Amino acid sequence: MSSAQEVFADWTSGTEVISYQACPVCKSAWYFRRRFCPSCGASDPATKQASGRGVVYAETLVHRAPVAEAREHVPYKIVLVDIDEGLRVMAHGEADLEIGDRVSAAFKPFLGGIVPFFAKSS
Ligand SMILES: [Zn+2]
Repeated sequence: MSSAQEVFADWTSGTEVISYQACPVCKSAWYFRRRFCPSCGASDPATKQASGRGVVYAETLVHRAPVAEAREHVPYKIVLVDIDEGLRVMAHGEADLEIGDRVSAAFKPFLGGIVPFFAKSS
């Protein structure tokens, strides 16, 4: 296996995909890339594509832009979503999302790239 930095084709590089890692040993799933499982320490986690479907865990409406380039977007909704595969992601979402809503991800342009954007699903 190469020691070079692995390249993920996901939304951070402009591809409309949410990727995550999963442990081949204990089946934990997580979002931020690591070389070892945060639950059991096993190495060589698998990289997978998330379904983009889940449930809103928390939500907040951002009124103050964190950077000048984001001022045109305020107010905007930021959500934490528990994805069906067992990971939690932070993303943008529709303004009316509430905790417990069933959602699915699309993608929207934001600050020169794309970001996951969640909307209610049935
Ligand atoms: Zn594990």
